[in-house]
Amino acid sequence: MKTILIATGNAHKVQEFKDILDILNIDVKLISPKDFNDYSEPEENGSSYQENSYIKAKYYYDKYHYPTLADDSGVEIDFFGGKPGIYSARFLSDMSTKERNLYITDLMKDSKKRNASFHCVLTYIENDVVKKYEGILNGKIAQKPIGEEGFGYDPIFIADGFETTNAALGQDFKNRHSHRAIALRKWASDFEK
Ligand code: IMP
Repeated sequence: MKTILIATGNAHKVQEFKDILDILNIDVKLISPKDFNDYSEPEENGSSYQENSYIKAKYYYDKYHYPTLADDSGVEIDFFGGKPGIYSARFLSDMSTKERNLYITDLMKDSKKRNASFHCVLTYIENDVVKKYEGILNGKIAQKPIGEEGFGYDPIFIADGFETTNAALGQDFKNRHSHRAIALRKWASDFEK
């Protein structure tokens, strides 16, 4: 069985990769940089999801020499002119995730401008060959945070065609419909060739 390194220290993301690949029947062993005792992170100083995703994949590929799959992702909120995008992890970082989600929905409570989208760019490096895959999930910002599953902005994001948030619909919904699931399906169909 092939071993693939998932280039993230975010345990939620690693679990999502595992669950999605299970659903897709891709039989691989996933490891993460946190499985090694010399964990370190690259500086994510790119100016796009593509660049940051490549920075992470290349960093861990060079360090551990496993086939490496990296994700860079974020949410783009029309109300904030498309921000936070690649800065999603660091946006309003003096607040907890819960406080940040409440702050955003409070700020937007009277706004009709509610469109938002989740973006994911995967970079896969194996035998020095680099490939990229993209997934986008369109939706809108909820009136208030709902639900406990998922992470980050999931409690305030309602995907198009659905009535409630990703966090309320739950992990199984995310594993099938998220920006990461969309990108991973593209990766999987290449991987199986
Ligand atoms: P990254 O780990 O540098 O790619 O940062 C991505 C950030 O975007 C995360 O820390 C979250 O704040 C946000 N994000 C990305 N994907 C998701 C998701 O599936 N649900 C909720 N928030 C997400």
